[in-house]
Amino acid sequence: MAPTIEPVNIPAQPLPSATTVVIIGGGIIGLTAALTLAERNIPVVVLEKGRIAGEQSSRNLGWVRKTNRHAEDIPLALASDRLWAQMPERLGADVGYRQAGIMFIGRTEAQMAMHEAWLSSVQHLSLDSRLLSAREIADKVPGGRGQWVGGLYTPSDARAEPTLASSAIAKAAMAKGAVIIENCAVRDLVTNAGRVSGVLTEKGEIRCEQVLLAGGYWSRRFLGNLGINFPTLPLICSVLRTRPMEGPTDIAVGAPDFSFRKHKDGGFIITQRGALDASLTLDHLLLGMRYLPQIKAQRSFMRIGLGKEFFRDLGLARRWSGNKVSPFEKVRVQDPAANQALNKEAMDNLKAAWPVFEQAQIEQTWAGTIDVTPDSNPVIGPVAKIPGLTVASGFSGHGFGTSPAAGHLAADLVSGHTPIIDPAPYRFERFL
Ligand SMILES: Cc1cc2nc3c(=O)[nH]c(=O)nc-3n(C[C@H](O)[C@H](O)[C@H](O)COP(=O)(O)OP(=O)(O)OC[C@H]3O[C@@H](n4cnc5c(N)ncnc54)[C@H](O)[C@@H]3O)c2cc1C
Repeated sequence: MAPTIEPVNIPAQPLPSATTVVIIGGGIIGLTAALTLAERNIPVVVLEKGRIAGEQSSRNLGWVRKTNRHAEDIPLALASDRLWAQMPERLGADVGYRQAGIMFIGRTEAQMAMHEAWLSSVQHLSLDSRLLSAREIADKVPGGRGQWVGGLYTPSDARAEPTLASSAIAKAAMAKGAVIIENCAVRDLVTNAGRVSGVLTEKGEIRCEQVLLAGGYWSRRFLGNLGINFPTLPLICSVLRTRPMEGPTDIAVGAPDFSFRKHKDGGFIITQRGALDASLTLDHLLLGMRYLPQIKAQRSFMRIGLGKEFFRDLGLARRWSGNKVSPFEKVRVQDPAANQALNKEAMDNLKAAWPVFEQAQIEQTWAGTIDVTPDSNPVIGPVAKIPGLTVASGFSGHGFGTSPAAGHLAADLVSGHTPIIDPAPYRFERFL
């Protein structure tokens, strides 16, 4: 069962006939972009096929990190750190942002070599990341009996609560004039002389000047219907949450085969960090070659399987016309089953490393589908082939932490403002 977000009272209202910007997708990226536009008094309508934050944005672990990001992705993370810190004032709400630090720990010299390589790749950025000895790990996270060669620690990394953040952002956006409509799938774009002039939804048409596609895992299918190949693949991550308990630390800890971080209620959010489910779909077969380097590097990380998902996905249309029910109405909320075997592995590995977790009682389990690009960075940029269309998707399992600046950047691009950071690393064209 997916985590329930803080309730948001979204008034039922008819579809407006026109606006300036339509945002497709009410996840944290679309909502943050909407807030930024509304703060600039730019009319904006967010259309969500299911419920806001029903997919990745409520299901993630809540890690807000710079550690282990590509060097070129770090300016976005640093800009996000600043924006997260301003959230209480900007939103009038606490979204659980706490700079309690993030620590990755390694059991082998090879794992530590990867951490060292990352640290030297970001040397020029003057982050507060540093290597830790086994002794320092024991001091910071007492009560352990794991054998660690060392760790990588960034005190300024943080966490925030996914069940609070999107709700507070949506409320603030609506208070500034943004319109949000749930249960309203966008089926297609409307164009005039090749340029975006509106969107066709299951409830009718809206005229607009700009469209921001922030559809997460679904953006590939939406663009595919327009003849544009956006190469993302789905991976499924399973998660569990414990009841409130006495834990070893406030720091979020990522080991090779588990991770844990403190939840706002005093429980812990835990995952098998060493494994994700890759349930094969047609896209895995179509795009597999583009992902070969990632697959080779992370073969042990992916649990590849052929099952029901292949046929379920095959049953969803890849091409449709705007007057027909689209795949987005057929799947209001993507809700994969949690892999309880992976969750058990995570718990067993964690208990072996920190026995205090022997007393953990599992409160909830869930899973979410993440949208991974070939270089694990998102696209945040215009689509040259269709003027007026901008994409912000493909966050590859780490878009919650950077969402404040990513949504801001998307809003900058659609409204012609100076971008909050250089958008070059995120351009769509790198995949063409
Ligand atoms: C289990 C898990 C753990 C994660 N852990 C972390 C973490 O610790 N830190 C981190 O930084 N990131 C993490 N992530 C990744 C993070 O959650 C995502 O990168 C981020 O939430 C992406 O937000 P989004 O708005 O792009 O996508 P989503 O939240 O998926 O939102 C997209 C929305 O668009 C809607 N939509 C799609 N198509 C249409 C359409 N045609 N019409 C109308 N609506 C449409 C969908 O219904 C959906 O609600 C994790 C993800 C998962 C699943």
